[in-house]
Amino acid sequence: MAKPQSDSKSSTAWAFGAVLDASPDALLALAADGTIIMANAAAERLFGASREELTGRNHRTLLAEGFRDEVDRLFRLLLAQPGRHPQPQEVYGVHGNGTEFSAEVAASLVPDSGPENPGGTQSALLLSVRGTSHRKAADDDLREAMSLLTATLESTADGILVMSTEGHVAGYNDQFVTMWNIPPELMEGDTEEPVMRLVVAQLVDPVAFMGRIGELEDNPAAESHDVLDFKDGRTFERYSRPQRVGEKIVGRVWSFRDVTPRRKAQEQAHQAMLDLAAQAEKLRTMAFQDPLTGLANRAVFNDGLAEAVTEPRLKAVDVLLLDLDDFKEVNDVLGHQAGDELLIEVARRLRGCVSTADVVARLGGDEFVVLLTACPDADAIAACIVRCLHVPVTISGTVLRPSLSLGLASLGQENVGASELLRQADIAMYAAKAAGKNRFLRFHPEMMAALVQRTDMESGLQLAVSRGEITVDFQPIVSHRMGQVVKFEALARWDRDGERVPPSVFIPLAERTGLIGEIGAEVMALGMVQLAPWLSEDPSRSLSVNVSGVQLLEPDFADMVLRLAEASGVAPYQLVLEVTESVFFDADCSLIKQLSTLRDAGARVALDDFGTGYSSLGRLQDLPVDTVKIDKTFVSMVRTGAERLPILSSMINMAHSLGLTVTAEGVETAAQADYLTALECDSLQGYLFSLPEPGERLEFALHHAEVALNSLKGR
Ligand code: C2E
Ligand code: CA
Ligand code: CA
Repeated sequence: MAKPQSDSKSSTAWAFGAVLDASPDALLALAADGTIIMANAAAERLFGASREELTGRNHRTLLAEGFRDEVDRLFRLLLAQPGRHPQPQEVYGVHGNGTEFSAEVAASLVPDSGPENPGGTQSALLLSVRGTSHRKAADDDLREAMSLLTATLESTADGILVMSTEGHVAGYNDQFVTMWNIPPELMEGDTEEPVMRLVVAQLVDPVAFMGRIGELEDNPAAESHDVLDFKDGRTFERYSRPQRVGEKIVGRVWSFRDVTPRRKAQEQAHQAMLDLAAQAEKLRTMAFQDPLTGLANRAVFNDGLAEAVTEPRLKAVDVLLLDLDDFKEVNDVLGHQAGDELLIEVARRLRGCVSTADVVARLGGDEFVVLLTACPDADAIAACIVRCLHVPVTISGTVLRPSLSLGLASLGQENVGASELLRQADIAMYAAKAAGKNRFLRFHPEMMAALVQRTDMESGLQLAVSRGEITVDFQPIVSHRMGQVVKFEALARWDRDGERVPPSVFIPLAERTGLIGEIGAEVMALGMVQLAPWLSEDPSRSLSVNVSGVQLLEPDFADMVLRLAEASGVAPYQLVLEVTESVFFDADCSLIKQLSTLRDAGARVALDDFGTGYSSLGRLQDLPVDTVKIDKTFVSMVRTGAERLPILSSMINMAHSLGLTVTAEGVETAAQADYLTALECDSLQGYLFSLPEPGERLEFALHHAEVALNSLKGR
């Protein structure tokens, strides 16, 4: 710059020059052709060239490629409209070292032409250049931050909406419009009303949604977090917080997250938990419950009993053990489904007989138990149970009269344990069965003796045949029409130590223990041998022998019978085998084959105790039998002989229509004999004609029967 001078004009020039050099912006004056005619100190610094190097150079050499016309353009603009002040331009300058830098150029005309510009016809241009590299760094940061923000907003799975405080859409991301199914043009509209309508229409609870928006409008600084349920099953989480610039709230940011999969997973997990809990509950009840009847099971009863006998405050503890009578027959005749139904009905009735606090359990099969812990009169409950159970019930179309045998044992003065109490009830129940079923008996110490006796009897029965204790009595069966004895039934007798054990006691025991095979064979052998002489006198005479189902299971039973017949000289056609219908319940081919072999050989089969079982008359035609023996319970219905008993006549008619002969058992009176004869019953058996008599008294029995027959004729 020029040195200071002493005169006033030169001092003005000095001051001018000093001001120019003090300017922080680079200043360049250009001649009309673009040549640099002046440059200040800042220009030297900015362009990295001395004043001497700069002056005389065309300014275009100071601009980077692409920006070289910028200054010319400004120049032309100013020349055309000298009063204007055009905006500064962004350009790139070139430093003396060849690097480029960003700068802002402002330009204005210098109207007053100096000596270098004589005539003033040519205007000069003053350029003010400011480097902007510092500003660009900040710009770059901002731009980077902006792009980062945009990228983040667009890449987030959340839908974001920014509303201004005035209620206009200030921004949103693509995810927002996708999630809410909003057509993009709707977002560009002037009002957000259609958007709102679309949004609300998708929600399960639009009222709550709008309510929350209203709340937040009243409370701009609040944050909120809630869940939105969509009609289409989706679930969004909604999060909202105010948008602030500095301290000022300028709007509100809403962000929505689709949590449907998470929600579904949560729901599934919840459901799985519920299922698991239900299963656990089921397992729990299974552990304590009888699945068929829903009653408690043995474990529950045992626990309850154990607790009751050790609880000193309990005044009374009673165990009622019960077992259905002849349940096996229901199962066999009507099927297991019917058996199950009967058990369920029994369970229902039992529950009805006791208070809800009492334990009623099924121990298995047809065995039930009741535990009473505060009952003033257990005998009354036991009687009630026996009575209630005996009420007829229709199962599978058949009317059944369930009956049971019940043993009752109570905790008394002498403190017995739980298992002993149950054993006592069991003994009493056994006694009730032995006493004729369909009743209850209270345990009595004497029953213990009976139990001992029973086991003792079993060992005695084992030796009965070998000791010759088994004998046979014969009871005549008469034909009223022929006026004579046509048959004898062989009945087993057991004399033990001079005492006669009734067949109703030892036959079931023999069946249970398997001894019936040996005993049955003995009876048959004795019967044939003793009756052979009488039989040989008349081929129309026959011998009836009782046969248990257990015996028929022996594969060589038929052979054995035929061998015995041959050995004793009895013709097979003179033999009648008496079986009860229960042998046919689960009859297998082998059993049918045994009977067929015997029938083929000429022997006949009689159905014993007919009418006492569960089977119907209709079943008769399917059974391989020749005779039915009407049980004495039906015969005993005849008292005066004047009564109408259609059951008797239909039994006899039905049997006859099937080609079977009919024998009536237990005929004790002449009235009964007349009644049955009038119904054309083929033969009669009973005390009226003769008691069962031993072989030595056969003549006596025959005589007695004939006397009775004759007196009937005389009536
Ligand atoms: P069941 O085959 O029905 O025999 C008839 C039963 O009725 C006999 O009883 C007989 O004594 C009895 N009785 C005969 N007439 C009359 C009468 O007029 N009134 C009354 N109230 N009863 C009469 P028992 O001898 O006590 O035999 C009982 C049951 O034992 C027999 O009934 C039979 O099922 C079975 N049993 C007897 N012996 C044998 C045998 O050798 N083998 C098999 N498996 N069972 C036998
Ligand atoms: Ca019989
Ligand atoms: Ca009978």
